[in-house]
Amino acid sequence: MLTRRLALGAGLAALAAPILPARAAAPFRGGQTAGWYRFRLGAFECTVLSDGALDLGAPHPTFGGSLVTAEQVAAALRDANLPTDRLPAQINCLAVNTGRQVVLLDAGIGASPAFGPGAGRMAETLAAAGIQPAEVDLVAFTHAHGDHSWGIVDGAGRDVFPNARFAMTGADLDFWTAEANLALPEPLRTLVSVTRDVVLPRRARFATLAPDGEVAPGIRAVASPGHTGGHVCFHVESEGQRLLVMGDVANHHVLALANPAWPFGFDADPAQAAATRRRVLDMARTDRVQVLGYHFPFPGLGHIEARGQGFGFTPSPWQWG
Ligand SMILES: [Zn+2]
Repeated sequence: MLTRRLALGAGLAALAAPILPARAAAPFRGGQTAGWYRFRLGAFECTVLSDGALDLGAPHPTFGGSLVTAEQVAAALRDANLPTDRLPAQINCLAVNTGRQVVLLDAGIGASPAFGPGAGRMAETLAAAGIQPAEVDLVAFTHAHGDHSWGIVDGAGRDVFPNARFAMTGADLDFWTAEANLALPEPLRTLVSVTRDVVLPRRARFATLAPDGEVAPGIRAVASPGHTGGHVCFHVESEGQRLLVMGDVANHHVLALANPAWPFGFDADPAQAAATRRRVLDMARTDRVQVLGYHFPFPGLGHIEARGQGFGFTPSPWQWG
């Protein structure tokens, strides 16, 4: 006999029946695709090329040093709904096709495992973006640190950009390849040693970039010392549209902006770096110029605004076509 209770049960069972027929589940595939983002800047075609992300480990003392406590850094990250136990740093390189030349601004870290397996994706990103490495005419570097310069060679030490010339400030070129600096403590010694291996075999292809010099028509360096002695930003301008490629002036879209005075562990001269950070961010805010943060969330494009005692970052809307 069909009782009301049984009828109700049968109805629930029908509701619980799977919508899709049973079959073998698809395996989880893992991995991640290479990221690139293309946009027009006046007559230039620009492409942000992701080299993946660095794993910088614990957020403190890398950010804040002895100026603040680990809890203050964790609180700032928690307020922004970011993880408090690790510090991923994206790597956003920029290719600028001026119509006459392809200029790459920073080249990623290459095959070095120094900052985890998430980095070193430039080769697949270039392929995905349809840019032939042989098309790159010039690679200009904001500074010599490995996550910006080592990407010009592959894991076997071969050229990634066979036709490219290179441009770096004399201060960085000299400091990070000086034999005498192999006597520096770690991690500086390793940075110098690997940079020597990367740069010196191709030294004749390196031009010395003046801290305010022209890289190519429409692209000029902007002196911004502190992170390294010869650090520069790049100002890119075409038909009145402008972009400020900030390099490592500010290394986190929340921590470095909200607290520009906080030292960053890899800054060569923390006081000078902090003063430069405030000056460059203030200039970007005042001029309302779009910026590219090398280690900001991909693709790293946005605007700087005043927020509290420091600054905030608003990502640019995605541009289609
Ligand atoms: Zn960096």
